[in-house]
Amino acid sequence: MYLVGAGPGDPGLLTARALELIATADVVLYDRLIPASALTGARADAELIYVGKEGGGPSMPQGQIDQALLDHARAGRTVVRLKGGDPFVFGRGGEEAEALRGAGIAVEIVPGVTAGVAAPAYAGIPVTHREAASAVAFITGHEDPAKPESSLDWSALASFPGTLVVYMGVRQLGAIAERLLASGRASDEPAAVIERGTLSDQRVVTGTLETIAARAAAEAVRAPAIAVLGSVVALRERLQWFERLPLAGLTVAVTRARAQASALAEALRSLGAAVVEAPAIRIVPIDGPAPELERYDLVCLTSPNGVRLLFERLASAGRDARALAGRRVAAIGPGTAAALRGHGVIADIVPERFVAEGLVEALLDVPVAHALIARATEARDVLPEALRARGASVDVLALYETVAEPLSESERAAARAANYVTFTSSSTVRFFFDAVGPAPLEGARLVSIGPVTSGALRERGLEPDVEASRHDIDGLLEALVADAATSRS
Ligand code: SAH
Repeated sequence: MYLVGAGPGDPGLLTARALELIATADVVLYDRLIPASALTGARADAELIYVGKEGGGPSMPQGQIDQALLDHARAGRTVVRLKGGDPFVFGRGGEEAEALRGAGIAVEIVPGVTAGVAAPAYAGIPVTHREAASAVAFITGHEDPAKPESSLDWSALASFPGTLVVYMGVRQLGAIAERLLASGRASDEPAAVIERGTLSDQRVVTGTLETIAARAAAEAVRAPAIAVLGSVVALRERLQWFERLPLAGLTVAVTRARAQASALAEALRSLGAAVVEAPAIRIVPIDGPAPELERYDLVCLTSPNGVRLLFERLASAGRDARALAGRRVAAIGPGTAAALRGHGVIADIVPERFVAEGLVEALLDVPVAHALIARATEARDVLPEALRARGASVDVLALYETVAEPLSESERAAARAANYVTFTSSSTVRFFFDAVGPAPLEGARLVSIGPVTSGALRERGLEPDVEASRHDIDGLLEALVADAATSRS
């Protein structure tokens, strides 16, 4: 049984150990404040049990959570109890560990990045600083400081020589500030409240100990939020960085197949965007024998999926990259070329324009007698037709089929509300709009990887707002960032 911290919200702040354990767990019991993508790496047959609060309602009673953990552990299953932030910082992790140990269950603790350090860091506030704060106190603001049974010594906290970080204190912020002021803490001490820290819609409100509660109320700050009191808050002016990322505050939907989405999603996140994964398509390999590559003088690959599946077919026939020896190999673009490199093959031909027409042009001076085009079942016939017109004999090998992936209601709703929806192929256009239905997107800007994908949008009566001039993922990111910059200015 593992008690695991999931970090404050940014999926990049999950630890390597947490990801490893999530991937092997039979059962994961998780809270509300865990990163949305934390569970995508869980096994398909793992049981995922939500035990958090539902929209302000009560969470599963603690006793019931403890009992569920015990039952699963006793059944011999690998249990991951996943909690927001760090499991031992205001997360009742200590209690859960005690209950399990008391019942004779071994518990391993995996610390997480706690919100009280991470949210300030993403706001550009170091909780300690050699000149500004040599100590930091983590406080629960859960209780009303006016109540006599408050377990916190507020006058001691008022004279605490360092930064105060208040968890769970949004509602009590006014009462807490009053209590600290009454006990003699400086009214002009810099203060900040960070809502949804480390998430792309993070908001930061700043003021002083005297003004912060009113400002937070005026901005309608809601949980989860962390309050930071101390002169370190003033450093934000110089150290602020997260809100300055090129895609900060924007939500971008990724429509490509789940298996291919992660590189694009990660790049978008590192640019500051919130990513909605709405995989409208799935790649289904087509079974078949390995092609006899010796028969061809040219082998064309039109996608990284094609490369992967060609090599899978070769491997199952006991063959490897040497099957391509002596053939000319053409890749439609840099992504496909990179996939080939992964198998030790350097493409001979990569066109400057990453569309079939570009490949046709690039092949103009190349003598071709017998060509093999390895690709999806449904694809444009530009390339085979052009090669045949030149007198070459052309075989088309269909390695996979692109099929619709049903989207859940929440995926559809999230994609509809996104600021940008990205399309990386015409099949993503087709299947995405089939999946979301005719309901219009709420003002999302449509980003297309290139002219063919744009054509698929226009066929649906939609004009792409952004078209990449380099038709690969980097080109798409570049175009999106440029558009976000102009839309903002
Ligand atoms: N174990 C968690 C804290 C659980 S208590 C940790 O170590 O971070 C829940 C409180 O944590 C919230 O009320 C809020 O004060 C804080 N919190 C959690 N995630 C947060 C986030 N992304 N931004 C700001 N505060 C957060």
